[in-house]
Amino acid sequence: MQGNIFIQAGSQEGLRAGLDGTGVTHHRPALTQLRPALEDARRGGQASDRLAAELDEIKSRLSQAQEQLHTTLNSIRHGIIIFSRAGTVQLCNARAAKLLQLPPRFSDGAFDIQDVTAILTAPDVMPGSDGQTATIQRDDGQVIKIQMDRLAGGGKVLLVEDITAERRREESLHLAESEYRSLFENAVCGIYRDRPDGTPVRANRALVNFNGYDTEAEYRAAVKLNGGNWYVDPDRPWLFQQLMEQDGEVRDLVSEVYSHRTRKNFWITENAWYVRDQLGKPVYIEGTIQDATERVLGLAEIERQANTDPLTGAASRFHFMNTLNDITRNLSGTCVLFTIDLDKFKEVNDMLGHSAGDAVLNTVARRLKSVAGAAATVARLGGDEFAVLMSGASAAMKADMISAEIVNAMRQPIEIEGHNAIIGASVGVALFPAHAANSMELLNHADMALYHAKSSGKSKACIFDHAMKNRLQQRNALEAELREAIPANTLELYYQPIIGTNTTQVHGFEALMRWNHPRRGFLQPGQFLDVAEEAGLMTELGNWAIRRACRQAVALPANINMAVNVSPSQFRSSGIVDHVKRALADTGLDASRLTLELTETVLMSSETVAARVMDQLTELGVKLALDDFGTGYSSLSYLQRFAFSKVKIDRSFVAGLETKPANAAIIRAIIRLAGDLRMEVVAEGIETETQAALLRAEGCDFLQGYLFGKPKPFLEIATELALHNLREHLPLKPNMFSETQDQKRAVHNGM
Ligand code: C2E
Ligand code: CA
Ligand code: CA
Repeated sequence: MQGNIFIQAGSQEGLRAGLDGTGVTHHRPALTQLRPALEDARRGGQASDRLAAELDEIKSRLSQAQEQLHTTLNSIRHGIIIFSRAGTVQLCNARAAKLLQLPPRFSDGAFDIQDVTAILTAPDVMPGSDGQTATIQRDDGQVIKIQMDRLAGGGKVLLVEDITAERRREESLHLAESEYRSLFENAVCGIYRDRPDGTPVRANRALVNFNGYDTEAEYRAAVKLNGGNWYVDPDRPWLFQQLMEQDGEVRDLVSEVYSHRTRKNFWITENAWYVRDQLGKPVYIEGTIQDATERVLGLAEIERQANTDPLTGAASRFHFMNTLNDITRNLSGTCVLFTIDLDKFKEVNDMLGHSAGDAVLNTVARRLKSVAGAAATVARLGGDEFAVLMSGASAAMKADMISAEIVNAMRQPIEIEGHNAIIGASVGVALFPAHAANSMELLNHADMALYHAKSSGKSKACIFDHAMKNRLQQRNALEAELREAIPANTLELYYQPIIGTNTTQVHGFEALMRWNHPRRGFLQPGQFLDVAEEAGLMTELGNWAIRRACRQAVALPANINMAVNVSPSQFRSSGIVDHVKRALADTGLDASRLTLELTETVLMSSETVAARVMDQLTELGVKLALDDFGTGYSSLSYLQRFAFSKVKIDRSFVAGLETKPANAAIIRAIIRLAGDLRMEVVAEGIETETQAALLRAEGCDFLQGYLFGKPKPFLEIATELALHNLREHLPLKPNMFSETQDQKRAVHNGM
């Protein structure tokens, strides 16, 4: 036996069959030639030498043939077993033994087809007849294929093949295919394949459902019927085709479509591409389709929201700027811009609450729309700031009239929670292209005009002119100079006496700020406090006034009180209590001699914070006076909840005292109520003896006004007090604190 091939001994027939079976047949002539030679030997034996040589030659060729057969059978990748007609194994190559895991005992050659069958893992696997195949699946994953063939001589040949790799390839192909199929079938976006002419080839479930159908067949039939057009825009199929031809694909094309089945419209976004053959010719169009309804409607909603002010429904600043830019970028664009600022919005909002404020803003927007008309853009720019934009030359010509109408509409009372509030508005007007070269400049100039309107009194409209720019620049310069006022020591306090009604004695003084401007001359608070407030300097200036007034009060007789004004922003600043405390401690002024005058606007934004600060100030021993009473919204009984110990009746009530009986009635009521609430009453702005007499008769506690003295520099009041104390028992003359030379000069200079 050579190698692992064994050929059953003693069976010439078998050998022949075996050789036949493997197709190795060229040795048969050698055996045929052998026969006559043997015959010859038997007959005579003369040529025995020649015969022996011939026999050797034949043997060697035979063994050579066997050798070739061994090599061939061992090198092929198939296993081969040849069975004789009787079923015994005549030939079995090493590959077959290995693949079928035949045990070593088979090496003696004494086995047959049954033995092989018995060894196979599954006995019933052995194929019976011609060309039949069977597979053996091993636990380790190996797959063996066996095939039985009949041999011409009556035997059988069993071909054994390891098909593991092949089987794995098939399986992974199958897996991949089913994965793609699953992706296609279960995708939530629609996927399709059409022929270039639009005939559908495949459509997945999502696409079928998008169209309102249940099955692909139904869908295909419907597409055939309606030609596949589902776009709402009749130009859409053309655009789609155009894009495909131009770019070979369509990317994120958003379209409105309708379902022929449900008759409903919806939005889709689609992608499509060509599938081409080797020559580049399109054979299919494939694509995906997604429902974009939410996205499109969401975008539309977002756009709507961005363009509208949610509270009033007016245009948003964003939309307004876009519209304005569109007009000003247009070479022939003409427009008029009105910017509107409400006069008393902050008061309403702070005192009556945000819902009252919202109601006011809504009314304002509505009125602006009705004045401006449907063609105009009415926008809320933020807070209580509105704008009206009207395009066209005719609007520009009517700018004057329209702005007056706006002012008038804003002056009409607005009913809020049962109250009629007059809010009023100031209007700034600028024209394009007359007043500005671009949108920003136009807005700027309208704002300048608005600023001018506000500072020249409320409820006014102002059209921009270039001189305004200069005034504004001057104002900005004033702001810069005001920052230097304290360090430059150019601020001063003037003192106006407050007289006790019964005693006719000076009860105290109110400190009033003046600015000795190096170039502009002597300035009154009305000329610089607004600028200070806007520039955020009010707290600094006000705190300076408190400290200065305390220091100077210490130099006055101990029975003289000192009243200092505190602005709302100063009152709301975080350090106010500490500042007052330190001013008292540093100057040594007795806290009971200091009165802080507050207006009711200090209660804005947070009543609780205001009440707490007021309590802290009262705990220091300081008195609080409610200034300008009667000009605000609050009633005295409401204000009584706060720690005011004095009420100052506003000058406007005193001014009309002789002529308007209503004023007298109001003053009488205030004095009576204040008495009940244990508050003292100060009347300010008294200019005539009659006013003084009436107020005395009503029982007003303190009087203040030009009649008793104008505000004067400290030195003057200190001197006069000293003189007065010298003439201790002499009564105080009403004109004792008359105008000073300084003030006469100031009035002469137009201050
Ligand atoms: P106010 O607190 O109501 O001060 C009274 C104002 O009325 C003063 O104006 C005073 O000069 C003026 N006045 C007094 N008696 C008469 C009169 O008989 N007839 C007329 N026509 N007017 C009279 P002034 O000094 O111009 O101050 C204006 C406002 O500036 C003050 O009004 C006050 O609100 C504010 N202010 C002045 N100084 C300060 C200050 O130091 N701090 C703060 N926060 N505000 C101040
Ligand atoms: Ca005051
Ligand atoms: Ca006042």
